[in-house]
Amino acid sequence: MAKSLTAYEGIADPSVIRELRTLGGKLKGIRVVHVNSTREGGGVAEILTWMVPLMCDLGMDAIWEVIEGTGEFFSVTKSFHNGLQGFPVNITRRDLDTHLAVNEANLARLRPILEDAEIVVIHDPQPAPLLGLCPERKGKWVWRAHIDISHPYLPVWKALRPLVTDYDASIFSMSQFAQPLPHPQFLIAPSIDPLSDKNIDLSQAEINAVRADFGLDPDRPVLVQISRFDRFKDPLGVIEAYRMVRKVLPVQLVLAGGGATDDPEGKAVLDEVMEAVAGDPDIHVLLLPPDAHRTINALQRLADIVIQKSVKEGFGLTVTEGLWKGKPVIGGDVGGIRRQVFNYHTGFLVNTPEGAAHRIRFLLHHRGMIDEIGGKAKEFVRENFLLTRHLREYLTLFHWLLNGEGEPRLYL
Ligand code: UDP
Repeated sequence: MAKSLTAYEGIADPSVIRELRTLGGKLKGIRVVHVNSTREGGGVAEILTWMVPLMCDLGMDAIWEVIEGTGEFFSVTKSFHNGLQGFPVNITRRDLDTHLAVNEANLARLRPILEDAEIVVIHDPQPAPLLGLCPERKGKWVWRAHIDISHPYLPVWKALRPLVTDYDASIFSMSQFAQPLPHPQFLIAPSIDPLSDKNIDLSQAEINAVRADFGLDPDRPVLVQISRFDRFKDPLGVIEAYRMVRKVLPVQLVLAGGGATDDPEGKAVLDEVMEAVAGDPDIHVLLLPPDAHRTINALQRLADIVIQKSVKEGFGLTVTEGLWKGKPVIGGDVGGIRRQVFNYHTGFLVNTPEGAAHRIRFLLHHRGMIDEIGGKAKEFVRENFLLTRHLREYLTLFHWLLNGEGEPRLYL
């Protein structure tokens, strides 16, 4: 992982880097604390891995803290996650008490750090209660929601809303996710680090080695979906689509994922996936360790088509990663995928396994389109979803929080 902005000069426009240094210059020395609930697995950890070192490179005193939870806590917060994404779940008083108790248990370590910071960014609902537990805070606090809460299951949102109303601002990935809250809301899309192991250029030899390691046939097309084993990522729908394509074309499917330490449902979903695979040797279900970034990079590069057939998606970094590798992405027509996938330009949006199968067949029958769309896809990410843009938006927000707050309104 590159820790200096200088390394990005060859990738992003040099004026963008100069602008970041100017913005960062005025924030030198401020203490910024990010808090989430896992150091590895999932998009939030992916972003904080580069964002915190780069904030430090710009002179901020940035750190990343992770709340430590119990198994019960992560089951409860997974239910919150499911409820906020619109799935009816039952949240009990005991669940809310567990949520609060785990946050309280982290206080001895975190309270001095958080109360002293100029800026605190709390990611997602897991650590949201910390604000109410730090009454002597001196800085500004932002709640960053990474998930699609455009249509939450209302009892869950009603239970969680009081935990986030007192923040100074909140950030969402899409304007559709913004909720009525009594503070300014900002729209900031996530991004990828083009120099991380996940995204850096790889030699053909390394890609071929990964292909061989997993027993993939070099002469047949490969479809790849990288995802935690989560129902919202619809792995069963991907298998259905593959089977429809398979009737007419000799494709192979890779479903690769590992667990995030804050996601306890993965095992049950993986069991469902294995049952659906039913021993098909051309479906490769890969359980990868949390540091398998280069392997994932290679899988995305060896894919003919990248799939992300989610039925709910906050943003979908795997989509950005696939596009950056110059691949058309067939993505679920939901959430942040709609900000990245445009029919015939960067891929295709689909609503059903039939739709996905139709688009896969179309691309595989028109190989020229795969290259044409792939070329546009990479440039689309360069212009919109690299970390330089993301960092600039955070720095601008910090300036506003520290210097220029006006009347609360929607900053979209
Ligand atoms: N990822 C990973 N290993 C896995 C599955 C996913 O490193 O086994 C990464 C993936 O490459 C991406 C992130 O985790 O960078 C997932 O982010 P996304 O926004 O797509 O989904 P989330 O898991 O946050 O819902």
